[in-house]
Amino acid sequence: MGGRVEGGGLFTDMFTRFAPSPTGYLHLGHALAARVAWDCARAEGGTFLVRMEDIDFTRCRPEFEAAIFEDLAWLGLKWPEPVWRQTDRFPVYESALRRLESLGVLYPCFCTRQEIAAAVSAPQGEAAPLYPGTCRHRTATEREARMGGGELFSWRLDAARALAVTGPLTWLDRKAGIQKVDLSTQGDVVLARKDVSTSYHLSVTVDDAAQEISLVTRGEDLFEATSVHRLLQCLLGLPVPEWQHHRLVRDESGKRLAKRDHARALRSLRAAGSTPEEVWGLVGC
Ligand code: GLU
Repeated sequence: MGGRVEGGGLFTDMFTRFAPSPTGYLHLGHALAARVAWDCARAEGGTFLVRMEDIDFTRCRPEFEAAIFEDLAWLGLKWPEPVWRQTDRFPVYESALRRLESLGVLYPCFCTRQEIAAAVSAPQGEAAPLYPGTCRHRTATEREARMGGGELFSWRLDAARALAVTGPLTWLDRKAGIQKVDLSTQGDVVLARKDVSTSYHLSVTVDDAAQEISLVTRGEDLFEATSVHRLLQCLLGLPVPEWQHHRLVRDESGKRLAKRDHARALRSLRAAGSTPEEVWGLVGC
């Protein structure tokens, strides 16, 4: 398959990936996510990779990582070693961040969660509130003084500036078709957290490119986040894959499964005597 490119080479091979965070045990939703990536790779003679998205070292645990490998192997999936861990790649994220900084599309944000919540008037449901842009307006002098004074800060993407640099962009979802990059639901996302010098958005974009992932598959809860990744790819001169967002597995009340739903954890099902075939049946594969 030849991927569409921007700044990089054509994809010579087809790669997909399953990229869990080892913050809990895998459940039926993860089984479906892994299976979609696996099936796409198999259908196109590609390779299925596993990557540990373990940057959140306050929540990630080695026993969850070991359990993930065990559960995936029990399901019958196979992947090449070594598996990449994002905690091995902080210097790479750091250099991507510096490149973005040099383009003038980042700003330091000193706000606490409470300050952001207080500055946002309307309740915005379960999702984190859209950042109201408080720190975007600070002067260079104030920024330097506060950073120099040792205050904790995150780095945020100035979405409007970034889009002014790139111009209009699109991305392709294999099911939903061509999508326009639209950051209205994402706002100025965090690219490096106060406590961890990267973020999901930055690491996933950098790593998908570094691993030459030509088809990114993931749940439709992340559909809108893809605009952020497409924008970052353009700013960083990375190749552009295709995407396929898939349905989510939900419980009886329609809520998507979470890591705390132990009853639907793959290891609980296995302990209760389920077979891998039964698990695939439960997620409709
Ligand atoms: N680590 C992310 C998650 O577990 C992966 C999302 C993605 O595939 O991009 O939700």
